[in-house]
Amino acid sequence: AFAYAPNFITKIIQEDTQLDPFSETIIESSKIKTRFPPEPNGYLHLGHAKAVSFNFAVARMFGGACHMRLDDTNPSKEDREYVESILEDVKWIQSGLYDGDAPWDGKVRKTSDYFDLIYDCAIFLIQNGHAYVDSLSADEMREYRGTLTEPGKDSPFRSRSVEENLQLFQEMKAGKCAEGEHVLRAKIDMASPNINMRDPTLYRIKHESHQETGDKWCIYPMYDFSHPISDAVEEITHSLCTLEFEDHRPFYDWTIQKLLPSGLISATPRQIEFSRLNIKSTVLSKRKLIQLVEEKHVNGWDDPRLPTLSGLRRRGVPPSALRLFCERVGISKADSNIDYSVLEDCVREVMDEACSRAFCVLNPLKVTITNWEGGLEKFTVDRHPKLAEMGTRVIPFGKSLFIERSDFFDLEGPEGKLSGGIPPKGFKRLLPNEMVRLRYAYVIQCNEIIRDAETQEPIELKCAYLPDTRAGNTPEGMSRVQGIIHWVEESTGVKCQINQYDRLFKVEEPGKDSGDFLKDVNADSLEILSSAIVEPSVLTDVVDILEKIDENKDTYHSTLAYQFERSGYFALDTASTGPESLVLNRVATLRDTWGV
Ligand code: ATP
Ligand code: MG
Ligand code: MG
Repeated sequence: AFAYAPNFITKIIQEDTQLDPFSETIIESSKIKTRFPPEPNGYLHLGHAKAVSFNFAVARMFGGACHMRLDDTNPSKEDREYVESILEDVKWIQSGLYDGDAPWDGKVRKTSDYFDLIYDCAIFLIQNGHAYVDSLSADEMREYRGTLTEPGKDSPFRSRSVEENLQLFQEMKAGKCAEGEHVLRAKIDMASPNINMRDPTLYRIKHESHQETGDKWCIYPMYDFSHPISDAVEEITHSLCTLEFEDHRPFYDWTIQKLLPSGLISATPRQIEFSRLNIKSTVLSKRKLIQLVEEKHVNGWDDPRLPTLSGLRRRGVPPSALRLFCERVGISKADSNIDYSVLEDCVREVMDEACSRAFCVLNPLKVTITNWEGGLEKFTVDRHPKLAEMGTRVIPFGKSLFIERSDFFDLEGPEGKLSGGIPPKGFKRLLPNEMVRLRYAYVIQCNEIIRDAETQEPIELKCAYLPDTRAGNTPEGMSRVQGIIHWVEESTGVKCQINQYDRLFKVEEPGKDSGDFLKDVNADSLEILSSAIVEPSVLTDVVDILEKIDENKDTYHSTLAYQFERSGYFALDTASTGPESLVLNRVATLRDTWGV
């Protein structure tokens, strides 16, 4: 279950604990604790998947625990909608992985749970001369901070007495001050070569209601101050974060060290940084995702083209494919820019194993078997070519069928004129007067083409079937028919809508040339096929699953997915499927056809 290769973080934890998760013996339990701390200011995306997947995996490898903590210290950007979507996403990405023994205890922790404690920590720092109230304006503070090459200088308020600082801070808390009037800062070193150590802000005034604490507070702690405290309180041993926090680590450690004597915290968590996930042909920045949604380039946060976890879920990507992707990408300190196809390959690998096969005709062309007498013949065939345990399905055959429009090459019609009367190179499927095999059933021969009076496009083929060719048989004296195509019988087939997705961006690095990533949005990234027709076994499965969804909201995630033979992997769009309409999303093509 732990497919992460050994990496620099597992090595550090091995050194810290003298435990070896890569040996034969499973580590039953240890004090190792990690956490996943998203801020509820947006929807989770593939980048978060990397962090959540690794934090859970590390905890499990070392027999420890992983906390889910909402880092909710900035009420102006946060919202309960985000809180709910984050929790749903995290549950989803873990689903099917642990049986009863998950590293996450299911408790939802929040930084706001610790606001009282964090406030006490601030008071302790003030009392011990490690923090002061500064009354410079934001602009002045920036000016005093200095630059990378120039040291900063002390604020004139830096020498306020402990008493004055305590009083002002309490007034800030009591709501007596305007936003921006004061901030609380750590007193460290305005000449430090690390700008993060030049008296960073600990608290700022915000007269804003918080989604959890309401109007109790009008001062809110900064991320850099609340984070080490929350980690210590929860006895997190290894606080894993992305590389942009490397320069913040000295302040993380400073906070812990200065607060240990207070007795308010007693643990000493260790921060370790790894590189962010970047993926080509998409965007992972929260700002850009918000723009795509708000300016309606996509249909909401769960649009199946988005790299959000809710979008990938709706598309039908199995959570195990996401985990496989995260494991394959691995953990290191090196920046990387992963090809989108790596994710698609993981999807194919997982779905190939997991999905039943079915016939679905995406763009139907009617075929009438002129010499067919009587009713339906039923063929019982395997659901999966390699996994017999998946069982069988029944596909009816009869007088009226549909085949894929693209499986017939209309040599005698407009198509043939364009091609100079020559079929495309290597075309082995149906031609006028020629034969093709309908998979699992019979060989048919096309004898007549019925055309649309105006366009001359074929609307129906009159064909004869060869009774001796049943279920793969080739009678003596007849040469083997090369082409094999899929088909669906008309009276039992189920009409459905198929949404076919392509990449959301036309280029690998959206916005690289023009500076505007929206210019590279692929306008043809959604193709809706509204007259597709699928074999009846699919409908039976869908009715089952819809009943289950009604009974129990939790099975929402157990989406139904198929490999439609010769077309790709498709999953039920549970959000828009109802008793009257069957809608499926294409999750992935059968192989990488991008750019072909
Ligand atoms: P933003 O700066 O847009 O708010 P963020 O990185 O701060 O994004 P959070 O919700 O605070 O987003 O992140 C929660 C966790 O997910 C953090 O530990 C963060 O490091 C991790 N994370 C976010 N994006 C990525 C990414 N692209 N690759 C790896 N980890 C990521
Ligand atoms: Mg954030
Ligand atoms: Mg953040």
